[in-house]
Amino acid sequence: MAILILGGAGYIGSHTVYALCEGGRDVVVVDNLETGFAAAIHPNARFYKGDISDKNFINGVFQKEKISSVIHFAAYSLVGESVTRPLEYYENNLCKTRDFLACMVANGVDKIVFSSTAATYGEPDEVPIMEDDRTQPANPYGETKLAMEKMFHWVAEAHGIRYVSLRYFNASGAHESGKIGEAHNPESHLIPLILQVPNGQSEYISIFGNDYPTADGTCIRDYIHVTDLATAHILAVDYLEKGGKSDIFNLGNGVGFSVKEVVDTARKVTGHPIPQKEVERRGGDPAKLIASSQKAVKILGWRPTHDSLEEIISSAWKWHKHHPKGFQE
Ligand code: UDP
Repeated sequence: MAILILGGAGYIGSHTVYALCEGGRDVVVVDNLETGFAAAIHPNARFYKGDISDKNFINGVFQKEKISSVIHFAAYSLVGESVTRPLEYYENNLCKTRDFLACMVANGVDKIVFSSTAATYGEPDEVPIMEDDRTQPANPYGETKLAMEKMFHWVAEAHGIRYVSLRYFNASGAHESGKIGEAHNPESHLIPLILQVPNGQSEYISIFGNDYPTADGTCIRDYIHVTDLATAHILAVDYLEKGGKSDIFNLGNGVGFSVKEVVDTARKVTGHPIPQKEVERRGGDPAKLIASSQKAVKILGWRPTHDSLEEIISSAWKWHKHHPKGFQE
């Protein structure tokens, strides 16, 4: 039986496909390549290009392949973009997932792990954030992911499927081989943007806001290595395959770093002075997001192993230095 990965050509999806293939698992990838890259897909995976909302296409995949479980990464994930294009986020993240779920139920596939996000919480009352803390998203991206979680809950009740929702904090870093890594167009994430400076692609890094209620005035985030996220997805599939019940888990290191600390670490890793400019706040950014991942540790047996910021940035640098244009070379 194979594991079907929706969005397996994207950043976290491609790293999970690599981890599964390296572990000798049978993997099928579906991706429409709107934001993903065919070159990011591990050569051992069987790839079907198409959209998760295309019922004929998805039914065809279910007929050709024997699928035991699904891991669903296929979504839009840029907070700022979601604020200006909310309807596209609802369409792509929620409506297309609904269409896929209908096919999944019709084809008798009953286990799914999917990407959720720390953005489901909004501005937390306190950190570290626990899974049963208040969810009050501050942007449409977080809203669509929370709506997906709720849809999964009710569909699971009605149709006997089981799901695991993984709420990631700040995914970062790259595969140790240097073959795959983060590649968004346009790029909006902090670490790849910082690394554009030593790569000669920009002159400085903009720091969004220096008046947050944190020690150095910049936002604090919990950066988690993409390889550790990949491991969590595999553990979640194994948990469901062993009969585990539907559940929601945070995935982070439980340690926060400020934007300035991230820039300083990147200077150390790259040996480049990386000039910075302090500019206005970016809309919708909570001051401090740090995960409690104790539940994933206890129930899934997950333990992040690439937990130093230096290691995370070094792996990202290895990728960006050798692939300054990402996969478009
Ligand atoms: N950030 C920044 N400059 C940039 C990009 C991001 O200061 O050019 C900040 C952003 O405001 C946030 C943190 O870096 O506080 C992480 O942002 P990112 O977009 O990487 O992830 P997010 O936390 O939004 O998921």
